[in-house]
Amino acid sequence: MDRTWARHLNNTSLIVEVRCIVGDGSVAVGRFNDPGAMSEAVDECNAHGNVFTTLNRPSSGVLATNKMSWQSKGQGLTDDAFAEILHLPFDFDSVRPKNRPATDEELRCAIDAASALSRDLELAGWPSPVRGCSGNGAHLIYRVSLPNSPAARNLLDVLYKGFEREYSTDKVKFDPVVRNPARIWRAYGSRNTKGVESSDRPHRPSYVIMPPGRVQEVPAKFIIERAEAYSAVVAEASREAARVLRRVTGGASRYGKGDYSTLDLLGWAATMGLKPVHLKGNVYGIQCPWEHEHTTKSAVSATAIFDNPEQWPGFKCFHAHCDHRGFVDLMDYVGGADAFCARQYEIARLPASSY
Ligand SMILES: [Zn+2]
Repeated sequence: MDRTWARHLNNTSLIVEVRCIVGDGSVAVGRFNDPGAMSEAVDECNAHGNVFTTLNRPSSGVLATNKMSWQSKGQGLTDDAFAEILHLPFDFDSVRPKNRPATDEELRCAIDAASALSRDLELAGWPSPVRGCSGNGAHLIYRVSLPNSPAARNLLDVLYKGFEREYSTDKVKFDPVVRNPARIWRAYGSRNTKGVESSDRPHRPSYVIMPPGRVQEVPAKFIIERAEAYSAVVAEASREAARVLRRVTGGASRYGKGDYSTLDLLGWAATMGLKPVHLKGNVYGIQCPWEHEHTTKSAVSATAIFDNPEQWPGFKCFHAHCDHRGFVDLMDYVGGADAFCARQYEIARLPASSY
């Protein structure tokens, strides 16, 4: 097994599950917090079958064994056993005869397709991924930090389906199903012995190319933005997931596009149909966008926005259902505020030379 990849997995996940799947259907499972012991176990197992590892951080109740043991099928960690999603693995597989390894030309097409996606994401500000080759297909693995929550899983569902639509061709398929937290992934450096080999379709060793320096994390904001861009074609449900996840990860305040201290509050509120009415000083009554949740009918003064000079605006609705809601919630729910900001928020990015 590639030692650098083994160390990276252990440093991020703390405990990594290894699974060796043998042709006759038997499975060996081990959980490792020692990258050296893990690498040795992978190398030994590879003589018997294909070897995979988990990519994400299990909950604290999962303990290391630091050795492999034979199990009946289905004994590995399940999605609910994971606390945090640390990697987004993308898999490009060539379209080819079933149960056969790829030809060199098919593998080349898969690598080209993966490179096209990584170039596009780099232009959108994403940092460099880990690049991998399973032997038959091309991988990109992005480092992230997302809770293992229904909102996050929903969002990844949209993201992967969006990539599938945009990056699959008649020669290469982007796999939309490899997004679940317990997904096992090729243990890089091990040999891929899947399928029946022939001279033009050989079994190959898998390999990994780590980005120089360190594996940088993709800000949650970029993932949310990309999924939102796909949400129109995929599902309305993803918009709600984006809102929830933005709150959980603090995405809006940390990574928002607009600098909301420069927001044209009244222009935005009027355009978005909130019907602002001047009450006093910097206080404007608006129509609450969650009015359908209120138990009693509103007077206009029950819901207000505050135009704070040089600061983010405020929001207060006196109905009990809106008790917990602040301006970020209003902005998320109503949308469109970025376009009404005089300035954009500066996103801190490391220059390439800092690798
Ligand atoms: Zn309200």
